[in-house]
Amino acid sequence: MAKIVLKRGAERRLRAGHPWVYRGEIGDLKGQWSAGEAVDVCDAGGRFLGRGFYNPRPSLACRVLTRIDEPVDAAFFLRRLRAALDYRAAAELLSDAYRLCWSEADGLPGLVVDRYGPASAIQCLTLGMACVVPWVAAALAELFPGGPIYRIDDPTAARIEGFEAERGYVPSPALAGGERPEEDIVITEGPCRFLVRPGSGHKTGFYLDQRENRARAAAHAAGRRVLDAFCYTGAFACHALRAGAAGALLLDSSPDGLALARRQLELNGVADRAELREGNAFDALRRLDAAGERFGLVVLDPPPFTRRKEAVDAAARGYKEINLRGLRLLEPGGVLATFSCSHHVTPAFFEEICRGASGDAGVTVRVLATLTQSRDHPVLLTVPESRYLTGLLLQAV
Ligand code: SAH
Repeated sequence: MAKIVLKRGAERRLRAGHPWVYRGEIGDLKGQWSAGEAVDVCDAGGRFLGRGFYNPRPSLACRVLTRIDEPVDAAFFLRRLRAALDYRAAAELLSDAYRLCWSEADGLPGLVVDRYGPASAIQCLTLGMACVVPWVAAALAELFPGGPIYRIDDPTAARIEGFEAERGYVPSPALAGGERPEEDIVITEGPCRFLVRPGSGHKTGFYLDQRENRARAAAHAAGRRVLDAFCYTGAFACHALRAGAAGALLLDSSPDGLALARRQLELNGVADRAELREGNAFDALRRLDAAGERFGLVVLDPPPFTRRKEAVDAAARGYKEINLRGLRLLEPGGVLATFSCSHHVTPAFFEEICRGASGDAGVTVRVLATLTQSRDHPVLLTVPESRYLTGLLLQAV
């Protein structure tokens, strides 16, 4: 097996429990290798540190999969996915929609697996993972016999890593017949039901990471008027309305998102209390404020305003702006559920941004809760990047 020899000192991150190796940290690459295959990683003195898939193309060249001398093969993948399932079973996170595998946090850097009813949705984020999809599919067929498997790669990751982003049904020896039409799956999330078509729309089909936060926000919805800004499928609004909200206004710039939201509202029998509005949320929030409209619950769940560390200041201005507007729209005692899913915006930084917004808006708020991604998207303490969603539940006092 080929061997990466790290430059002197470059082993520190690995020794501290983080699995990444950057191209610039590699001193030497010994032996026969091909992109996407497993290689050993050693310190400058030749001591074995771990084993992971190597790709010379991205600057993040290797993510360690194991720190012991074990084969990275089909059995390895089955063990890791079974461990991921066991954690979620013990934590009572199994339902008909959950994340089974969250990349680094489940010991499989570069692999995401979501479960929708009987179906599994695989997302490859590295070339190495794209090369071993048959092993992943075999493990899933063993853990969930008979369930269809879809592959829904992230085009950005595929471009950086240099592989073809796949979308569609993965033929499985366990299931007769090759192609299978994409089909809607109805999942339940607490009192709500949602239509998911794996592979269509954002993520692998649904924002599973907000499951717990939707329930927490909905707990403040009864009898109140709700604003669901950046609503996408309207999942926050569906929960709030099912929890007894008087009415909901859903905002999104995407007509496709709003069309999907309408179907979800109808499926949950709450469409008659909802109004959907297409447009830029920045403008819409300003207009609602100017018109003197007020809400008892405001949800702000925008897309990541930056994916790059250098652009974090511009992102912070965007977050401050919408939070300032969102806070001003609260009636007395009203609650704001506000989020950032930008990797580079830490919980402390997000709190600082919201503190600035609260001061500028002249709206004093108490922190009811700090929020993060659902527990089926676990966070490894030594891998801060595994936490990307941060949020606050704030109440106007
Ligand atoms: N809250 C949703 C997920 C939101 S994803 C859920 O729980 O499922 C972010 C959404 O913001 C996307 O639907 C995208 O279309 C929308 N969006 C992005 N920029 C926007 C803008 N400037 N104004 C309004 N909506 C925007």
